[in-house]
Amino acid sequence: MIKRNSWLVIVLLLFVACQPNKQKNEVQENRPILMVTIEPLRYFTEAIAGPRFTVESIVPRGSSPETYDPTPAQLLALADSRAYLRIGSIGFEQVWMDRLMANAPDLPVFNTSQGIDFILEDEGAEPHVWTSTVNARIIADNIATALCTLDSTHTAEYLHRRDSLMAVIAQTDSLCRSLLLRPDADRTFLIYHPALSYFARDYGLHQLPIEEAGKEPTPARLKALLDLCQKEKVNIIFVQPEFDRRNAELIARQTGTRIIPINPLSYDWQSEIIKAAKALAPNNNSK
Ligand SMILES: [Zn+2]
Repeated sequence: MIKRNSWLVIVLLLFVACQPNKQKNEVQENRPILMVTIEPLRYFTEAIAGPRFTVESIVPRGSSPETYDPTPAQLLALADSRAYLRIGSIGFEQVWMDRLMANAPDLPVFNTSQGIDFILEDEGAEPHVWTSTVNARIIADNIATALCTLDSTHTAEYLHRRDSLMAVIAQTDSLCRSLLLRPDADRTFLIYHPALSYFARDYGLHQLPIEEAGKEPTPARLKALLDLCQKEKVNIIFVQPEFDRRNAELIARQTGTRIIPINPLSYDWQSEIIKAAKALAPNNNSK
C-alpha cells in the first residue's frame, strides 16, 4: 500500500513538473513565425518583436550564408511563416530568394537593407551590412516598419522596443569610436573573409581580405599581403569559424601578427563588434 502511494506521488509530481513547460511550448507554438536569413538579423528582429513573434533564422549556426541551401523542412516551415525578413543581398538570398517566393507566393518579404549606402563591388553590393552600427540603425528602422505593417495594433510597442535597440547600437558605436579613433589604434587589419567592410568604413579603417573573390589566395596575393603587413604595420588577423585558417596562420608566422577569432555571424551582435574594436585598440594589444 505504501509503495503504491509513493508511486502515485511520483506520477503526480511528474505531471505537475511537466505542466508549465507544456503550457510554455503551446504559447510559443501559437506565436506567428518570422523567418530571417542570419543570426544577427534574428537578434535585431527579436529585440523589436519581443514576445509577439517567434523569430527563426534560415541559415543555421556554423553555416555560411554565402553557400547555404535550405532543407525541405525549412521550405515547408517558410510557407507557414508570417513574413520573411532578408538582410539584403547575401549569397543565400541571391541564389534562393526567387525560389523561396515561388514556393510561398503570399509570404510578405521585407528587405531590411533598404536605404543603406552600399559599398559597390564588381558583383553588386557588398553584403556584410550588419557589421556596422551606422547600418544597424537603418536595419532596426526597417524591421520596426515591417512589424508595424504586419501588426499595426501594437505599433507603439514595436517603436518603443526599436528605441531600446537604438540605445544599444549607439552605446556600441560610441565604445568603438573611443577605442578606434585613438591616434595609436591600428588603422589596417587582415581578415580571411571580408565580413568587416562596413565596420572598416564607419571608423576609417583599411580592411585587407586574405581570400580573393571568395577563393583561396594565390601565392602572388599572399606575397603582396606580406608586403602590405610590413608597410601598413598590421598587427591583427581576424579569422571566422566558417573559413579555413591555414593561410592566416601562414601570414601570422611570417609577420608576427596575431590571429583573433571573431564571429560576425553570431547572434551576439554587440559583443562581436566590440571584440573587433578592442583587438585593434592599443591598450588591448599584448605587444
Ligand atoms: Zn560573408
